[in-house]
Amino acid sequence: MNSSPIAVCEDPDVHAGPALFSGLDSGPSLAAHREQYGDVPRISLADLTAAIDRTGLRGRGGAAFPFAIKLRAAADGSRRPVVVINLSEGEPASSKDSALARTRPHLVLDGAVATARALGAHAVHVVLPGDRPLTVAAMDAAIAERHDRRMRLVRHVASPRFVAGQARAVLELMAGRPNLPVTAWTPEAVAGHRSRPTLLSNAETWAHVGRLLHTGPPAGLGTDDEPGTTLLTLRLPGARVAVREVQYGASLRSVLPAKDDAAVLLGGFHGTWTTARAARRLKVSVPGFRESGLALGAGLVLAVDDCPVAWTQRIVAYLAGQSARRCGPCLNGLPALAAAVSAIDDGTGTARVEQLAGLVERRGACAHPDGTVRLVRSLLTAYPDEIDRHGAGHCSWTRQATVVRRLRSVAS
Ligand code: SF4
Repeated sequence: MNSSPIAVCEDPDVHAGPALFSGLDSGPSLAAHREQYGDVPRISLADLTAAIDRTGLRGRGGAAFPFAIKLRAAADGSRRPVVVINLSEGEPASSKDSALARTRPHLVLDGAVATARALGAHAVHVVLPGDRPLTVAAMDAAIAERHDRRMRLVRHVASPRFVAGQARAVLELMAGRPNLPVTAWTPEAVAGHRSRPTLLSNAETWAHVGRLLHTGPPAGLGTDDEPGTTLLTLRLPGARVAVREVQYGASLRSVLPAKDDAAVLLGGFHGTWTTARAARRLKVSVPGFRESGLALGAGLVLAVDDCPVAWTQRIVAYLAGQSARRCGPCLNGLPALAAAVSAIDDGTGTARVEQLAGLVERRGACAHPDGTVRLVRSLLTAYPDEIDRHGAGHCSWTRQATVVRRLRSVAS
């Protein structure tokens, strides 16, 4: 199995921000958190739903699904709901959930605990990432500080696999089965853990819920259509990994390097390539990115000063090895797609890549094949000239013949 082309970073620089990352200097302890925010907010389900409606909160795990829809679905079920904090950040390049665990664990826990109380749930499940020991230790320390007998905090540790954080894979883990996605026809908010309505969101989403319940709507932050902030993981050439809290509507220019020849991957390994010049014109916005054919996804901004074709070849080879190998598009399609993307260097063109992308898309039980196709298609759109150059045996970034680059990569 190919390893990730990017190593996990659990210790990013975390910059002070206007909401989630305010008051960082006082540290992550429960005492400091209570000093800043007070006790866990007590709120009725009706008031919680109204507060969520006012802010239009969307999930920050990648799909940007409206939180209010999941909340209502979980509340409308006839059985007692289950609440889950998903910290199993399967995206190796993203560090935002690790940053939250290490700096703001009690804001995350407060959001989930207050919601669980409003829903009448008796437990909050905390799903931790198996490949991030510092993150696990930080959340364990935070859980150990809390002593609420009426709200159990139940921890689980996910497998170190890209698809392990997918919602259905998390439910499989919680049920004691292999931590892999499975086919499901009903949303987990309707029938999830043990067929109960399950409100499952990632750590950043719960931190926004916690902040909202403690301080009210994010006045003056973001735009009218997208109030508030979001976290970005910044991986820029020659710089330490950083996590920044930015307002919706802010320009990406402020966080990107000035170099026009940098290639920029937005969203994550299921995200989209663009050029640095195009990225600097963007504002941070889920619909704005969509209108530009891009994806904010898990909030990754990866700028590289080497070849995006070679990066994509490595990422797709990694993603092909990360599937659960249960559906045809993953079992057969993604390895074939990885081979076709790699064969661009042999002058085979992109017809086979396009064909396989069409065959794989929308046929998996989860979004893994679609996300991989999105990445590949964005390379074809953003760097057509470079693909032609590779087909002719050259790479503009390395100034080497692609065959030499390939031999060097195999040798290393
Ligand atoms: S599409 Fe792939 S990752 Fe998703 S369930 Fe099927 S085999 Fe697993």
